[in-house]
Amino acid sequence: MSENKMINITIDGKQLSVEEGKTVLEAARQANIEIPTLCFLKDINEVGDCRMCIVEIEGRRGYTPSCIQKVEEGMNIKTNTPALIEARRVVLDLILSNHDRKCLTCTRNGNCELQALAEKYNVTEIEYDGERNEYEIDELSPAIVKDLNKCILCRRCVATCNKVQEIGAIGVANRGFASCVSTASNASLNDVNCTFCGQCIEACPVGALKEKDSTQLVWRKLRDKDAYVVVQTAPAVRVALGEEFGMEIGTNVAGKMVTALKRLGFDKVFDTNTGADFTIMEEGTEFIERLKNNGVLPMITSCSPGWVRYIEMNYPDLLPHVSTCKSPHQMFGAIIKSYYAEKMNIDPAKIFMVSVMPCISKKFEITRDDMAGAGYSDVDAVLTTRELARMIKQANLDFTTLEDSGFDDPMGEATGAGAIFGTTGGVMEAALRTVSEVLEGKELNKLEFKEVRGEKDIKKADLQIAGKDIKVAVASGLANAKKIMEEIKNGNADYQFVEIMACPGGCVMGGGQPIKSSKIRATVDVRKKRAEGLYSIDEKSQFRKSHENPAVKKIYDEYLEKPGSHKAHELLHTSYVEREKYKM
Ligand code: SF4
Ligand code: SF4
Ligand code: SF4
Repeated sequence: MSENKMINITIDGKQLSVEEGKTVLEAARQANIEIPTLCFLKDINEVGDCRMCIVEIEGRRGYTPSCIQKVEEGMNIKTNTPALIEARRVVLDLILSNHDRKCLTCTRNGNCELQALAEKYNVTEIEYDGERNEYEIDELSPAIVKDLNKCILCRRCVATCNKVQEIGAIGVANRGFASCVSTASNASLNDVNCTFCGQCIEACPVGALKEKDSTQLVWRKLRDKDAYVVVQTAPAVRVALGEEFGMEIGTNVAGKMVTALKRLGFDKVFDTNTGADFTIMEEGTEFIERLKNNGVLPMITSCSPGWVRYIEMNYPDLLPHVSTCKSPHQMFGAIIKSYYAEKMNIDPAKIFMVSVMPCISKKFEITRDDMAGAGYSDVDAVLTTRELARMIKQANLDFTTLEDSGFDDPMGEATGAGAIFGTTGGVMEAALRTVSEVLEGKELNKLEFKEVRGEKDIKKADLQIAGKDIKVAVASGLANAKKIMEEIKNGNADYQFVEIMACPGGCVMGGGQPIKSSKIRATVDVRKKRAEGLYSIDEKSQFRKSHENPAVKKIYDEYLEKPGSHKAHELLHTSYVEREKYKM
């Protein structure tokens, strides 16, 4: 293996040997030298536009953006001279002069890269205060709010939407002072080809993009004595919520989260992982039926609503490939408002079902037609992980010191298969555990399908199940989904089963998860840490196969009859529509 060439440079008097091809910013970070950034987002937006990361290089006139400058032999770099500090203050002053500086009422207060820099560089007065653009806030969609009054035109969202997701729902319109992040014909995000994946929110350094707030609605219901307010939490939430309280990325805080939800006043706290077990029962059965009866293959998973919206807009002809299964939280909501309501003798009209999700697209999903299995909306409100954290803070709960408690019975039992739903490859692995045992008619020797784990954008595996060749593919992120869709459309795909999640890395990296700064995104493998948290829950679970979940078995016996039954279809399956597509 050939070793990479090393380059000798000096940064702030420190002599360093750095791999060729690295940028000055990367070299500085390796040496623990801090250079501030704002428009920089590793591998996504490396344009050197905002000029926060400027450095002085000996022998060069002016300042150089360190995020795009590659190291060169003998470079002598200074990162924090008094002149650079003043230049950065001027940059910040100019940005803030055209910024709505309402930090107190901003969702990013305390987690805003601009605010943190303004504080660090002591920008307390705005010297260049002048004319300001005023924008109408776009809050028409059920999922996302765009407030350009807080936009600093860093383009991190645009690059994410275009390069990572290959959607192109947003771009920069106009020039000069009139430049702004816009959509086709300046339409609302609700009326363009936006999938509501929320990856642009995760990329935004400030409060210009955010989820539609549901906390007020949920507080109102929690105050309503007549409402029976039930909450369920998705697998990926428990390995990220702790980050909002300073805990290590990927820590499993399920026990503290349940205690917090009970303290907030929810009547019952349930686990969406149980819903995921229902999804596997239904999806696995649907897959086996398609296999046996020459149904449409490959079958594609349907639990990621951003992905479903994407295929409805972009590949409507391929909709018969998509499983008719609702996503786990919708299935779970339908079970609560039917089986559970009957069993507990509660009027389902009084049940208010809240889902805590790592996703903003779920806010859109609950508004879709055909999502009221029991005659009432399956789910009434979706809170993101961030929104739950806000509610916990409002309630003055000291999250890190809360004792652990367990999910409520009789719906509290979930398997490790349900837990891994929250990461790319997890739905496929959970389904393979059940499908293999059903088709083979005996217990699996090998429970883990490591072929579909890991960080690759697209994972493929050839498996032998009950003497059949089964080819599977797993893709996360919509640019990768597009590659698989093109293969299917062109007749080049020989898979039988495909898992797709809209967010790169799956739900652990969903658009509703805690937002990480550009620096953390560049230096820590957030996706891996959160996914490891879920695999560890799976390993420690008493039951690791959905069909062995005692609660699920009981409900099929008592109520649903069997997977794929008429009743199961009424409650747990849905349909899709072709959606109009708009282009920037
Ligand atoms: S985006 Fe940041 S600087 Fe702007 S109002 Fe919000 S918290 Fe304050
Ligand atoms: S939510 Fe997703 S599709 Fe919509 S603008 Fe943001 S990145 Fe693009
Ligand atoms: S909306 Fe956010 S990410 Fe997009 S350009 Fe504005 S500040 Fe940057």
